[in-house]
Amino acid sequence: MIQTNFYSGAGVDRAGPLRPDSAWVLGRAMSPDARILPVWRNKCLVTFADGSQEEPRMASISAEDAAALSNGEPDLILLGERDGISYFVLDLSHLEDPSTSPLLGHGSFVGLRDVGGMMDRADGALLAYAKGLVHWHERHPFCSRCGSLSASKDAGHVRVCINPDCNTSHFPRTDPAVIMLVHMGDRCVLAHNRRNPQKMYSTLAGFVEPGESLEEAVAREVEEEVGITVGNVRYHSSQPWPFPGNIMLGFHAEAVSTGIVVQESELVEARWFEKDEILNADTHGLRLSRPESISRRLIDDWMFDRV
Ligand SMILES: [Zn+2]
Repeated sequence: MIQTNFYSGAGVDRAGPLRPDSAWVLGRAMSPDARILPVWRNKCLVTFADGSQEEPRMASISAEDAAALSNGEPDLILLGERDGISYFVLDLSHLEDPSTSPLLGHGSFVGLRDVGGMMDRADGALLAYAKGLVHWHERHPFCSRCGSLSASKDAGHVRVCINPDCNTSHFPRTDPAVIMLVHMGDRCVLAHNRRNPQKMYSTLAGFVEPGESLEEAVAREVEEEVGITVGNVRYHSSQPWPFPGNIMLGFHAEAVSTGIVVQESELVEARWFEKDEILNADTHGLRLSRPESISRRLIDDWMFDRV
């Protein structure tokens, strides 16, 4: 059975049909047990165990605090309901110093990527969802059709152009990227990407382009990045990846050629690794993808024949 990947499984009822009901949304926001998750400049509010940087936990503020921290009515985005509690996200990026009252004592803002893998998985997924929505709003203040301002609607799940002659609705986007473990027998291809300053080896990945299937995107990216031809391409699982706005679609792909030609603009290095080398990564001084990444799951599931 495929396990849930990190950053998925938030366990919320997204209440999609109720989002347009502004009276219901307001009532949920004003309810005493509503939890508002603040995001400040791409960082999420978390608390740590006393005096440490360990055991990060999702932190929230009240509707009153949200109002006090906003210019006018807080622009709350509904995430959904979990165990009878309504969760919202609020972008506080306009604050110069997020440690001021009334945030004082509620926690600190940290990058989700730095703490997500150590959090409760459902909470980590909820923060990924929150962060993804805030990022979309922040990047789309204008209508991409006519250039007029757009306004948030349906509890933050639509932006509508304010130009009455246009009135186009824009929906939150998540950009699909394929990520794939290329293998042949007991060997697989891992690469050190230029974007990663640390010498860490991970699976190949790239964006899906218009007019191609996911399988075609896998084959094209592998050919472009390492010059290998793949045959049997099989879907594995997916992972929301709000860094900043992607959904990673994971595959295992069987290589039908072995010669590697590295695309140097993207990769520092790529080579074949034996299963034994990966199994004893520590001994070999080999650093693999982060444990919470789908890249690592693709590697581990292939290693232990969970494919
Ligand atoms: Zn427009």
